[in-house]
Amino acid sequence: MSKENIDNIIKNQHIFFNSGATLDISFRIKQLRKLKQLILSNENIIFNALSKDLHKSKFESYISEIGFVINEINHTISHLKKWCRVEKVKTPWIHFPGKSYILKEPYGNILIIGPWNYPFHLIFAPIIGAMSAGNCIIIKPSEISNNVSKVITNIINKNFSSSFIYSYEGGIEETNLLLSYKWDYIFFTGSNTVGKLIMKKASENLTPVTLELGGKSPCIIDENINIKTAARRLIWGKFFNSGQTCVAPDYAFIHKNILKEFIEELKITIKEFYGTHIISSTYYGRIINKKHYIRLINYMNYGKVIFGGKYNETSLYISPTLIINTPLDSCIMNEEIFGPILPLFKYDNLSSVVQFINNKPKPLSLYFFSKDNKKINFVLKNTSSGSVCINETLSQISSPYLPFGGVGNSGMGKYHGKYSYDSFSHKKSVMEKNYFLDLKLKYPPYKTPISFIKKIL
Ligand code: NAD
Repeated sequence: MSKENIDNIIKNQHIFFNSGATLDISFRIKQLRKLKQLILSNENIIFNALSKDLHKSKFESYISEIGFVINEINHTISHLKKWCRVEKVKTPWIHFPGKSYILKEPYGNILIIGPWNYPFHLIFAPIIGAMSAGNCIIIKPSEISNNVSKVITNIINKNFSSSFIYSYEGGIEETNLLLSYKWDYIFFTGSNTVGKLIMKKASENLTPVTLELGGKSPCIIDENINIKTAARRLIWGKFFNSGQTCVAPDYAFIHKNILKEFIEELKITIKEFYGTHIISSTYYGRIINKKHYIRLINYMNYGKVIFGGKYNETSLYISPTLIINTPLDSCIMNEEIFGPILPLFKYDNLSSVVQFINNKPKPLSLYFFSKDNKKINFVLKNTSSGSVCINETLSQISSPYLPFGGVGNSGMGKYHGKYSYDSFSHKKSVMEKNYFLDLKLKYPPYKTPISFIKKIL
């Protein structure tokens, strides 16, 4: 698409937003219902595109992409009227007679930029928030997951007015073109490096941003656990989508007293999940492209492979891989792995593990398997991360009642459920007074002694 065309679409979105059409709650609900129907009727096309881009199984595609989005739409439709209500708040007595309340208003024109790993979910989940709050939207899906990008563009551009929502496909050049416009809000999901570029660009117009970024999410395995269940949950969370999940456990510290037994259980679990000829498993994904494939193969040089370590360039396959003896200062421990390689470490002192985590940038998620409440509280109190999941992996992100987002290096801003609506709404404070009383003491010339002001305030 030419610059002139996108220019026109953005101009028309401003006109449409200023018409006030999106302020009507029933308009927003109607659009959300329409979106839901379109997703349901395109389910097989979406499954196929996810399979082409990532060899994602139908089950993983449903629970982490289509099903997730449908749940968010249902939850939003059933709560939206309540969320949009005017919020009455107290008024300090000094302002009597008066009333105060908070109005939720849409920001206006929104840009949503998505990544390739959950290419459907991570474009549609923010769309739901932006739509529910009454904004006009331009989306830029990832060019790397190009099959899904095309499906998204078809769903949006063939069925909605481009003055309300429009999908603009492309890579760096197209994203930069979009970033050259003034937006009322930018919602970005992707890497820390690009996140910084987005924030820099946004700062030129003082545009607020949500940055959903990545990082290394640690996992700690205490000694007093149900080994079989913990192993299953760790393997599931790590190798879901072949480890290409922003909240995947990146590495694991295992208590020395269960180390051997736990590692054996991890190996058994991988075989139970994917069989012995994993490359033929329909439940196991592929690496998105050659660049990431090569990056991941290189990581295998940093430690001793004790399970897996198999790969095939033609099909971009890397088997679930467990490695030990990884130097803590090696690149694999300083970069987000984002693939099916799990470094394992032994520990005997929880404080030292916490210290290690705290010496690194704040993670997006932290996982702790333990039955000991004292230790759980210790970890919760002494670490900072976007989210924590105790005795499970990944599941914290699927609740619409929990805000999802990072902290520090793993991002800023939260969404999911009501938090999505909140992210895309400006909370406008209003104080309303009448003419009944007008205290003269606040006006010049100021005659009231400060001591009296101190008392009444
Ligand atoms: P990315 O940052 O490379 O790309 C994200 C988007 O930015 C894409 O749409 C891409 O076209 C665009 N882009 C890329 N380079 C650009 C540039 N130089 N200038 C302008 N735009 C540019 O990220 P990715 O590789 O698609 O996704 C992987 C990363 O995303 C990982 O770090 C992962 O942890 C993170 N992630 C975070 C979340 C979350 O919710 N926090 C979810 C998924 C992925």
